[in-house]
Amino acid sequence: MQGKQHLFIPGPTPVPPEVAAAMTRPLIGHRSSEFASLQRSLVAQVKQVFQTENDLFIFSSSGTGAMEAAVAAGVQPGERVLALVTGHFGNRFAAVAERWGARVERLESTWGEPFDLEAVKEALARGPLPKAVLATHNETSTGVVNDIAGLGALLRDTPALLMVDAVSSMGAMDIRTDEWGVDFMLTSSQKAFMLPPGLAFLSVSPKAWQAVEAAAPRSFYFDLLAWRQSGAKGFSPWTPSIALLYGLEAALARLFAEGLPEVWARHRRYARLVRAGLKGMGLELLAADACASATVTAARTPGVPADEVRALARREYGLSLAGGKGKLAGEILRFSHMGYVDELELLGALAVLELAFARLGFPVKPGAAVAAAEEELLTGGGGRG
Ligand SMILES: *Cc1c(COP(=O)(O)O)cnc(C)c1O
Repeated sequence: MQGKQHLFIPGPTPVPPEVAAAMTRPLIGHRSSEFASLQRSLVAQVKQVFQTENDLFIFSSSGTGAMEAAVAAGVQPGERVLALVTGHFGNRFAAVAERWGARVERLESTWGEPFDLEAVKEALARGPLPKAVLATHNETSTGVVNDIAGLGALLRDTPALLMVDAVSSMGAMDIRTDEWGVDFMLTSSQKAFMLPPGLAFLSVSPKAWQAVEAAAPRSFYFDLLAWRQSGAKGFSPWTPSIALLYGLEAALARLFAEGLPEVWARHRRYARLVRAGLKGMGLELLAADACASATVTAARTPGVPADEVRALARREYGLSLAGGKGKLAGEILRFSHMGYVDELELLGALAVLELAFARLGFPVKPGAAVAAAEEELLTGGGGRG
């Protein structure tokens, strides 16, 4: 394997050089006024990415920490939770709620498809209203986007809390936390935010605060009342990862310099490019166009074990692709196209993947993927932008 790693996995994703450089700056005290102004500025900017006016916290944890923070604060033992499971990460959210003592009902869709709002409506009508509904915006294990706006509309005038995992889409897709009525929205640093793992972001609506304030905190680290109290002073209750916050400052500068709508459009274009390329080399896409993720694409590899082609691509070319998770283990490969990546790199990865398939005897015509990707960009909707 070559020394250089080419990460086309859905996290961690490549880190831009100026973000890496920012993280080497000398540390400051986390109770200093400089820190408070840094944190205030970061929170205000991340809120813009979330499209929210709600309170927002930056945890020094991975994304699962923010899932746990939302569940531990918003749901009490024995309370009913409806978990919409469209893949591996939906299952994880449900498991977190179970661990914290909720009575979880899983409403599972076929993996590779989004949740069905009619089925959600029926599930809501069946029993007493759940305390919370858990959903995944972008199901990273299948490359499917779910209709959170539609789900939010179902719950808006009810007391049920909407908790949404947007770990692999926030920063790359147009996500309207407030307009959609999301009470707890969460994401983390190592995907479209172009940072190493280690930060998670959680927004908390006024409706969510009512539920949080009505019960004694159960998690110590993720005691949201403590986070709110410290946050009001520009601080974090516990020592934060200051270096990652420096990196976040640089990553946000990059996002805003490009412009959020431009960043979203770029990711949509990448998805079209990669989908056309994978199809062009003869793979079967898991998600239909209508629900396709802008950040990650999953495909079946007819006739060739997906894990074998991934292993060969990594060993021979340094190309890292993700595999299937849970019930899709060994069945698919997943190609990430989010964050700090450009068309040259995406086309290069498609070309190398073709070579890997060819070595395993898959009937692929060299150049077919790149030609199909280019054709899509030149003729498909939206153009090269
Ligand atoms: C990556 C990811 C997570 C978070 O995982 P961590 O390893 O805890 O950061 C959660 N949900 C989704 C949809 C993800 O893609």
